[in-house]
Amino acid sequence: MRSLVWFRGKDLRVADHGPLLEAARTGEVLPLFVLDPYFFAPERASQLPHRMQLLLEGLADLDRALRERGSRLLLAAGRSVEVVPDRVRRWNVDRVLAHRWSEPFAQERDRRVAEALGPVPFELFEGETLVPPGSLRTGQGGSFRVFTPFARAFGRQADPGRPLSAPTWLPPVPEQEGAGTLLPSLADLGLSPNPNLLSGGEGPARERLESFREDGLEAYDRDRDRMDLPGTSRLSQDLHFGFLSVRQVWNATGGQEAGPRTFRNELLWREFAHHLLAEEPRLLSEPFRPAFGAFPWRKDDAAWEAWCEGRTGYPVVDAAARQLLSEGFVHNRARMVAASFLAKHLLLDYRRGEAHYLRWLADGDWACNNLGWQWSAGCGVDAQPWFRVFNPVTQGRKFDPAGDYVRRWVPELESLPDRWIHTPWEAPSAVLAQAGVHLGRTYPVPIVDHSQARARFLDTAKAKL
Ligand SMILES: Cc1cc2nc3c(=O)[nH]c(=O)nc-3n(C[C@H](O)[C@H](O)[C@H](O)COP(=O)(O)OP(=O)(O)OC[C@H]3O[C@@H](n4cnc5c(N)ncnc54)[C@H](O)[C@@H]3O)c2cc1C
Repeated sequence: MRSLVWFRGKDLRVADHGPLLEAARTGEVLPLFVLDPYFFAPERASQLPHRMQLLLEGLADLDRALRERGSRLLLAAGRSVEVVPDRVRRWNVDRVLAHRWSEPFAQERDRRVAEALGPVPFELFEGETLVPPGSLRTGQGGSFRVFTPFARAFGRQADPGRPLSAPTWLPPVPEQEGAGTLLPSLADLGLSPNPNLLSGGEGPARERLESFREDGLEAYDRDRDRMDLPGTSRLSQDLHFGFLSVRQVWNATGGQEAGPRTFRNELLWREFAHHLLAEEPRLLSEPFRPAFGAFPWRKDDAAWEAWCEGRTGYPVVDAAARQLLSEGFVHNRARMVAASFLAKHLLLDYRRGEAHYLRWLADGDWACNNLGWQWSAGCGVDAQPWFRVFNPVTQGRKFDPAGDYVRRWVPELESLPDRWIHTPWEAPSAVLAQAGVHLGRTYPVPIVDHSQARARFLDTAKAKL
């Protein structure tokens, strides 16, 4: 039996990889990655510079891991729907094995590939989530739209099982197959490397998981909301690219204490996001709550640019914007504050922010990003009431008490005393002068007043919803 194992950018690992193990168990294995112009055309690659960097690193790491086991990664350039059936014919492949994706565009791709493969079987394995989307049902047999009952049902009904071991040996790939196509460099795609990103690949991801288990898990419940502390796992890009499977992370982080329990609850938010998108593909373009479909979002390019570049005059919002562009990462609390600010304070369409995040996040993930944006804008599933408007000042004081997060990303406020770090506009002029802050010149005055912006959002929403 000759199996083509199609790696598709969300399962770049050799451990806990069902398709790879199944192929190895039954004969010859051809591991393939397709350089599809959907992602690799330079105009598309420039839309995901940080994810592209991690993807290329992850592919190089995967090739190394396959070579250590006697195999190697084959590359082919072209549209997946054409390249995969073509290689299947040229290489006399008996079946194609891959992991399932939740996204609607991926499901369409897979439908077309299956059609083009004709009689050759195309087998999709679970593994993107802990249990298959659609497998958890309410008492009435429906799907969940609220997180807490979803998580409770998971606790009652789900068994993610144990991760599979990596194969110790793989059959060699025949010499002539797949020669000629090389992995492009970032420069080939018109991109420059960003040294501030974490490294991509199964090896670095395992090290991150190990160090989080040793140093972060126990205190996770206490520290996870603090923007100024490294209190979270930083595994989101690893879960997105599948450098680690979510089942590996789940199994490595069990325990009855508050730290592990809170952490696993966050993994269930990821699970919820994927189950939801698989059942409601429209969410990538529409708000969950139909009433928000006609919401009168403003068009204000100056406000949009200020938000993107970190010049709103609200230090936490600006820190989030700059961390995103610099590190391809934003602390979860800062994501919530910044996203809420865009939609509620500035009344700008949350979908613009969602696309901006997807472009710059190294962990940019359609399902999790969409859930986070709809939740923050108040138009999504779950119990977050739409009329709750985050106050960026009180959020900053609570979750960045000494202002270290702000000072790191907004260095022009570095010398401002803690008391005014989240409200520079309230600082006496002598304090500002001593800290070298000149409002309107070195740091902006707030582009909106919090109370007025809050009232404007509530009035607009009440009239429309
Ligand atoms: C506006 C907005 C946009 C977001 N966009 C993304 C995105 O594109 N990709 C992404 O992975 N997460 C996204 N999140 C969720 C969350 O912010 C990140 O998963 C988290 O900050 C990643 O850091 P970490 O790995 O250290 O998380 P940890 O706190 O260590 O959590 C562990 C894992 O649980 C999952 N997780 C944690 N919180 C959430 C959540 N609220 N929703 C879904 N999964 C969660 C992630 O896989 C994460 O890696 C978004 C949240 C918001 C509010």
